[in-house]
Amino acid sequence: MDLKSIENIVSLCKRRGFIFQSSEIYGGLGSTWDYGSYGVEMKQKIKNFWWHDVVTSRENVVGMDAAILMHPKTWEASGHVSNFHDPLVDCKNCKARYRADHVDLTKPCEKCGKKDWTEPRQFNLMFKTTIGPVEDSGEVTYLRPETAQGIFVNFMNVQGTSRQKLPFGIAQLGKAFRNEITTGNFLFRTREFEQMELEFFIHPGENEKWLDYWCEERLNWFKKLGINPEKLRLRPHDKDELAHYSTACFDVEYEFPFGWSELEGIADRGTFDLDQHNKYSGKKQQYFDPQTNERIIPAVVESSAGVDRTFLTCLVDAYCEEEVRDKKRIVLKLDPKIAPITCAVLPLVKKDGLPEIAQKIVEDIRTKYSAFFDQGGSIGRRYRRQDEAGTPYGVTVDHQTTEDGTVTLRDRDTMDQVRISTDNILSELQSRIQ
Ligand code: ATP
Repeated sequence: MDLKSIENIVSLCKRRGFIFQSSEIYGGLGSTWDYGSYGVEMKQKIKNFWWHDVVTSRENVVGMDAAILMHPKTWEASGHVSNFHDPLVDCKNCKARYRADHVDLTKPCEKCGKKDWTEPRQFNLMFKTTIGPVEDSGEVTYLRPETAQGIFVNFMNVQGTSRQKLPFGIAQLGKAFRNEITTGNFLFRTREFEQMELEFFIHPGENEKWLDYWCEERLNWFKKLGINPEKLRLRPHDKDELAHYSTACFDVEYEFPFGWSELEGIADRGTFDLDQHNKYSGKKQQYFDPQTNERIIPAVVESSAGVDRTFLTCLVDAYCEEEVRDKKRIVLKLDPKIAPITCAVLPLVKKDGLPEIAQKIVEDIRTKYSAFFDQGGSIGRRYRRQDEAGTPYGVTVDHQTTEDGTVTLRDRDTMDQVRISTDNILSELQSRIQ
């Protein structure tokens, strides 16, 4: 897949209602995007799949949902006020702005061809805001740049009420904001995005074991999402890449048309965060170990993934252009569990009672899956629309249905059609989806 394909995906997303530019009628806002009806369905399914895999299906992980606005001291304690910087350079000639670690400063500016750089300056990525009606005297705080700190500051509350014993995890899913210097590649790097984060608290000394465990679990999760395993890899961080709090880190990466890039970071954060909150809040952040009768500060292994990057990965990985009977077919081969619509139901014609039968089938399917009724246009065109939206199954109601109660069930990828009884549609979908 080449870079052009990202443009094709952007236009498919608009055409089919997955993603729109934010505030489009006002000319858009840089690197912010809105999810349309299909996009939000798919995003919700990705989030649900994560929540089930990381939280609901495990005895030793619980969830929480912290406020986006937090006490400003949180960000001093976490190191974000002093360390969450990217180096910024400007081209003095054309005023283009870059992240200094993303360009070769020995070469000319790629926009204007001149080599006239400013000195790199440090730029804090947090969005500042003020609390209270008077801006000048209001208290300065930040839109959270990660969800993780909401978990750390609630460690004592959640551990105490859930009565979890080490090792155990607290997970959270929610918005984060970063005033990125360079954005781009569609949803890959945006200023507002969602994170899926797990902080897994462990006995200090068991860091390596749990880091290995979560690396494997998380890589597998992306495979279970239906992403091509050959385009996924785990990459260990070099020492000079490690964040200030971390002693070891792996990235889950995907091979995008623009190169291998991070989907998730899995890091050994040691006791850094709880130590810091201990110090800054003056409130003990400790765990009472019933086995040793000792109070300890647990270490942490973190898994931090982006919802929007995962969403983009699913689209890029699923996007196909094929020749079918001398015509181009665009199809999104999404895993059925994350496709916005699971099954389209199409009456062959708009008369003879076929739409009514189709409506009844849609209602039945909706008891378990998402379904869509479409009677507009030729059957071929209707299938093409569903192929582009990634709908894995299509049921067609025709005249034979009125005679023997059977319909055709079409598979998006193979385009094979089988005739089955109307009564078996739900069980057939169930057996195919898994
Ligand atoms: P990058 O190096 O790509 O800026 P990072 O290492 O700063 O990412 P983390 O702080 O580890 O990212 O954040 C965890 C995850 O959150 C990332 O793997 C990514 O999926 C997501 N994420 C971070 N920043 C953005 C962003 N600006 N837009 C979309 N997703 C993001």
